[in-house]
Amino acid sequence: MKVFKFGGASLESIERIQHVGKIVQAFPGEKLLIVASAMGKTTNELEKVAQNFFMRKREIAAQLLYNIEQQHVHLAEQLLGTNEHPLFTQLQQFFTEVEWTLGEKPIRTYDYYYDQIVSMGELISTAIVSAYFNHAGISNNWLDVRDVFRTDDNFRDANIDWDYTQNAVNTIVKPLFNNSNIVIAQGFIGSTDQNETVTLGREGSDYTAGVFANMLDAESQTIWKDVEGFKNADPKLFPNTVVIPEITFSEVIELAYYGAQVIHPKTIKPLQNKQIPLYVKCFLDKDLPGTVIKEDADVKKLPPLIVLKKNQVLISVKSRNYAFITEDKISDIYEIFHACKVKINLMQNGAISFSCCIDNNPDKIELLIKALHVDFKVKYNEGLELLTVRHYQPELLRELTTDRQILLEQRSLKTVQLLMKLAVAEGSVL
Ligand code: ASP
Ligand code: MG
Repeated sequence: MKVFKFGGASLESIERIQHVGKIVQAFPGEKLLIVASAMGKTTNELEKVAQNFFMRKREIAAQLLYNIEQQHVHLAEQLLGTNEHPLFTQLQQFFTEVEWTLGEKPIRTYDYYYDQIVSMGELISTAIVSAYFNHAGISNNWLDVRDVFRTDDNFRDANIDWDYTQNAVNTIVKPLFNNSNIVIAQGFIGSTDQNETVTLGREGSDYTAGVFANMLDAESQTIWKDVEGFKNADPKLFPNTVVIPEITFSEVIELAYYGAQVIHPKTIKPLQNKQIPLYVKCFLDKDLPGTVIKEDADVKKLPPLIVLKKNQVLISVKSRNYAFITEDKISDIYEIFHACKVKINLMQNGAISFSCCIDNNPDKIELLIKALHVDFKVKYNEGLELLTVRHYQPELLRELTTDRQILLEQRSLKTVQLLMKLAVAEGSVL
């Protein structure tokens, strides 16, 4: 059994979906659990539907949803060469469900509605891919992953109930392989015990695939991407990047933690726990070697690994009346960050101050600052970049920091992290 994951970019056009079919056909007789994401940028478009709905701009939300429906139906018609197929009824049902949601008054949290609306991207993409594959002679079963992935109700970042899910994998998923070698499931989504749909966090399909690989004891997981493999930096941000042929789970988990966008950070643990290798392969050219991520990879020859997180904010907290920031105060501060669901990317503290760097999410920051402001003076500085380099070399660091002002710096033997100022961004006292 192998687990394959295809992301939005590999499903963004008719040609690409047909091409995915070719890749799958290159593994005849293999049992494949295929996890697919929403097509192209559908998730971003559905996020706009959710936002407009929640701001009570119902007509805009409905129009945006209609556009998504039209694009998908049109694509499905072209793939199948007809508009008469049970797929169209299935698609209709998914859209009608969201239309009902849009008809409601938003009385629950935004995150709840977000999940009810945005999850549709994966449902419709997998329904289309599954119908097209069967039409093209690639026999498969479509799986509603919400019958299998049980989670808590932490909407937009739901946590998987491992025991329930493992049991459902055994009783629902494994039997599906009795009558076909291929099962197609949605990434990114799941369901609570109240049958409410949840999502697992943006880009969560990698994680879904990792959980499946673990629970099915797969021999490997492959993430098919539009890049040649796992690179030492984002080629959109840096010139001269190189593909890394092999790398360990722990290196990748570090990089994902620091913000590398290649693989969802939660993906590694379920694979590492069962020693299942993860391949990152290029779907545009399946014969390229790509990268293998595994426990015993040879990391001696690793180049410097660079992660750049843009749009960062430095929050600086000072106690009022010059009271020391002691352990109890730090724990209070952490509690506030936790309650506001804000992740700290880098932190430092002094006698009467505490500084940290976080992603710029204006809604969360507003809440956070309000909460911190009760006991502390708060300053913030936005428009920053957080640069992380593992296996750094001084010359490279000099190059990467030219014309940058460094606001925070942390170095360990292997890793350096620098919070840098891009342009003149004034700190403002609240
Ligand atoms: N479609 C979701 C997203 O774009 C999940 C994924 O692609 O993994 O975030
Ligand atoms: Mg995606």
